Amino acid sequence: MTTMADGKKAFGSLVLVVTLPLYAAYGAWIVVTSVFRFVRWSVWTVRLIEGELRCPACGLDNSLHGRWECHAPGCGAVYLGAADCCARCHSTASYIPCVGCGASISLRPSR
Ligand SMILES: [Zn+2]
Ligand SMILES: [Zn+2]
Repeated sequence: MTTMADGKKAFGSLVLVVTLPLYAAYGAWIVVTSVFRFVRWSVWTVRLIEGELRCPACGLDNSLHGRWECHAPGCGAVYLGAADCCARCHSTASYIPCVGCGASISLRPSR
């Protein structure tokens, strides 16, 4: 014979059974996305540290060190050095133009 207390208990464990996998899935999702982000970030950072990016259009290796034009709004400075950071406004460039064919080479993920 079931009492009210038993029913409440059963409901409680049912909620637990339903929500635990959800929490587990949510936790796993967080872990997977943060690992994915970290791996992507590492890949991009290594590419920047190596100082060369291969053009996706023509395959030419472009040096990240050279003379660059800042495309940040209100800046437009021309600077020498690493492409990914403007010497004047310190904004980070999202792409550099290929010296061979002019195609845009992404410096970092678009998002
Ligand atoms: Zn700038
Ligand atoms: Zn190119």
